This record gives sequence, C-alpha cells and structure tokens, in this order.
Amino acid sequence: MADYDFDLFVIGGGSGGVRAARMAALTGARVGLAEEFRYGGTCVIRGCVPKKLMVYASAFSEAFEDAEGFGWSVPQKPTFDWTSLIAAKDAEITRLEGIYRANLDRTGVHSFSARATVASAHEVRLATGETFSARTILIATGGWPFMPDIPGIEHAVSSNEVFNLPAQPRRVLIVGGGYVACEFAGIFNGLGSEVTLAYRRDLVLRGFDMDLRTHTSAEMAKKGIAFRYGAEPARIERLESGAFAVEMGDGRHLETDLVFFATGRVPNTKGLGLEEAGVALTPGGAVQVDAYSQSTVPSIYAVGDVTDRLALTPVAIREGMAFVDTVFRGTPVSPDHDLVPTAVFTQPEIGTVGLSEEDARALEPVEIYRSTFRAMMHTLSGRDERMLMKLVVGKESRRVLGCHIVGHGAGEMIQLAGVAVKMGATKEDFDRTCAVHPTAAEELVTMREPVAET
Ligand code: NDP
Repeated sequence: MADYDFDLFVIGGGSGGVRAARMAALTGARVGLAEEFRYGGTCVIRGCVPKKLMVYASAFSEAFEDAEGFGWSVPQKPTFDWTSLIAAKDAEITRLEGIYRANLDRTGVHSFSARATVASAHEVRLATGETFSARTILIATGGWPFMPDIPGIEHAVSSNEVFNLPAQPRRVLIVGGGYVACEFAGIFNGLGSEVTLAYRRDLVLRGFDMDLRTHTSAEMAKKGIAFRYGAEPARIERLESGAFAVEMGDGRHLETDLVFFATGRVPNTKGLGLEEAGVALTPGGAVQVDAYSQSTVPSIYAVGDVTDRLALTPVAIREGMAFVDTVFRGTPVSPDHDLVPTAVFTQPEIGTVGLSEEDARALEPVEIYRSTFRAMMHTLSGRDERMLMKLVVGKESRRVLGCHIVGHGAGEMIQLAGVAVKMGATKEDFDRTCAVHPTAAEELVTMREPVAET
C-alpha cells in the first residue's frame, strides 16, 4: 500500500472543509488543510455572520421609531456611526476565526496558511513550494462573486468588498435580485442610505414562492427601497465628485455613491489544477460529484459551494460530515438535499421550507392556506407592516409540502416548522398542535379555510 504524507488533504478552510478536516482527524486520520486567506470561509469572513450583524445594526432605526408607540420618547434623533459598526464586526470575525484555527489545532489537523493546488490525483502543491501526498484530497474552495464584464465594472464592489467599505455611502445602487441583493438592500436602507435595487427581470427572489416574492418586495418598497425592474447597468463612470454615473441598458442614467453587484456566485475552481488532474467540471465550473461527493477522480472529493448543489453553510457542513462517514468511517452516507429550510435576512425576514405553490401545483393537486396580518407589535407601534404565513398542502396526501413565512422571526420559526415538514407532517398534524398564544407563529396551526380556487 502506498505511503502518503496525509490520509486527507483539504483545500479550503471554510465551513465544509474545516468540519470535514476536524471530523476526519477525530477518526485518527492524518489530516492537512490549506487556506490561502482567512479561516472560516465565506460564511464567517464575508457572508452569513457579518451580514447578520449588519442586519441587526440596520434594524435599530425602526426599533427607535417603534418605541414611541409604547410610551418611549427618544430625546434626540439617533445617529449611526459606520466606522464603529465595521470595527465591532471585524473584532467578532477575528474572534471567530481564532476559534476555527484553535479547533483545527486541537483535533491535530496540520493547517497551512497558503494557497494549494492539485498536482495529481494524490498530490497537493502549496504556494510555498512544498508538495504533499495524500490518500484522499477534498476540494472545499467555495464560491466567488460573479461580476458581469461591462465597461467601468472596476468601479463596482461585490459581496467581498461590501463588508469593509471605508465609509457609508449616501446612495447605493444594488444590482441583482437574489439573496445577497435583497438582504443588502435592507441593510443599507435601515442604516439610512438611499437604496435603488436594479433587477433584470420583473420580480426579485426568483425561484421562491410567488406570494412570498410579491409580499416581501412590497414590504421592502414600503420601507423606502426603490425597485427598478427590467434594469441592467451597461456602463459605469466615475465622476469628479467621486460619485458614479451608471448608464442602464435602456439608455437611462442614474447617479450613485456605490455600485454593488450582487449578481450571483461562481464555484471557485479556477487555477486549482483540477482539470489537469482529470477532475471533470460542470459547464458552470463546479466540481462534478456523485451522491457521495466523489469527483470523477476516485481519490478526489468535493463539498460545499464549489460543487454548486445548494450554496448554504449548513448544507456544506453536512456534506463534509457525510464525506467523513463515507471515506473514514466506512459508512457511506449521501448528503440529503431535500426539504432544506432556509432564511433570507431581508427586512422583513423570510423563512421557507419545501415547495413553492407553483412547483407543488406542477406535481399534484394542492390546497393553499394563506394569512396576512399585522403583528401585535405593530398595533401600538403603528408601523404599516404585514406578515405572511402560507402552507402548501397536498390535496390527497394531506402533507404540508411547503411552508412560507415573511415577517419578524421568520428565520427562527422556519427552523422548527422545518422539523415537522421534514417528518412528513400533514395539515391535520399542524391543526392538532395547540397554538402558542400570543405569537405570530400560532397562525401556522390555526389556518382552517383553504384559499378558494380561482
Ligand atoms: P443568487 O443566485 O441568489 O442571485 C443572483 C442574482 O443576480 C439573480 O437575481 C440573478 O438574476 C442576478 N444576475 C445574475 N447574473 C446577472 C447579470 N449578468 N446581470 C444582472 N443580473 C444578474 O446569488 P446571490 O449572490 O444573491 O447568493 C448566492 C447564494 O448564496 C444564494 O443562492 C444562496 O444559496 C447563498 N446565500 C444564502 C444566504 C442565506 O442563507 N440567507 C444569504 C446570501 C447568500 P436572475 O434571477 O435573472 O438569474
């Protein structure tokens, strides 16, 4: 049997890679891991964690206003300091990165702070010049923001830079209509910037349930976000004032202080030596894997965003653990990508699991239960904001095929509703669960009349 330097060498120190490295090391395997930037990956360094901290920060502007309805008076107009927020956020990210590093050390993983590429089916080459052999190589290099190639694109930022802008922009143009675009529209708006969201089609959050899309975008518009549909920047110019002039595809012009492209992410496989080693990539550049995350080269596996299956942190972690079960514990496990609950931290927030009404209808006859209402909090705050709760139910199977929530706490609610939906709960199971009163979530178990078919 060949003798290798490592049983496993992981390229990429994000959520999926670090989890796989630690779990494999705990089985007694000799594990190496290389990370070229900071440990923690997109989620910790420039994704989920800093984004959520910024969402919290941005929500205070409404909280100050809402407090007045409950008898509070805020003596002077609250002010916000961008530099303080960014510094506090950076300190927290550094703390978390330290935990990631310490956990790797504690489990005996040899980590290398260097770029690594695949030299062959069993070899990894580091930018330091070192080469290591490994019985198994795991690619966990994540994704990278995609920016379209238009004149002046160098003046725009992506979700890599947006977390560390030197100052808060007064006006922001966000391009795109997905998770990142909609979440940052809420962040900048809440922090007091003037936000325009330009999306090339006719309604943001493509792929989500239609009621959820229309409800969320209408609530976001009420908060002051300007949506420009059928709109795509064609050219960006920097003005003498430091602002930017953006020419849209339809010839119209717009002036702004920040152009932020949130136009999706691509798998990070460029220059990794994968194709040279015989690893097949998909047309989109992702590592092509089977149900066990194995690539077309048997000794090379891949997990997380680089495989372009479901670009979500908890999914990457599960893929990493399933890989360890399969390769190091002798129990082949295929990661389960079905009925994954997710939250979009828009304002108001989205929580969703299962099928949209449109996708469910394409499969079987359904009943729809839907309720929109003003949350109790806003009876006194006076805020004109409504929640949405929706259940998509199989007419014959009675199973809850989809659960969609828009409103405060939707992300927290959908984690628990997700358990029921994953277990195959029926509408009647929801109905015989006693309501928790007074909450918004109780609506999920009290909707009795299906929406009349039109
Ligand atoms: P998404 O794929 O969600 O959205 C990309 C958006 O950019 C779409 O609206 C797309 O339009 C648009 N777009 C793509 N190319 C162009 C182009 N050339 N010109 C104009 N518009 C374009 O990507 P995100 O970057 O927002 O998020 C990436 C992934 O990260 C998400 O899918 C999600 O899995 C994950 N994520 C999860 C979060 C969470 O869990 N809360 C938060 C943030 C990200 P179209 O609809 O027409 O294709």
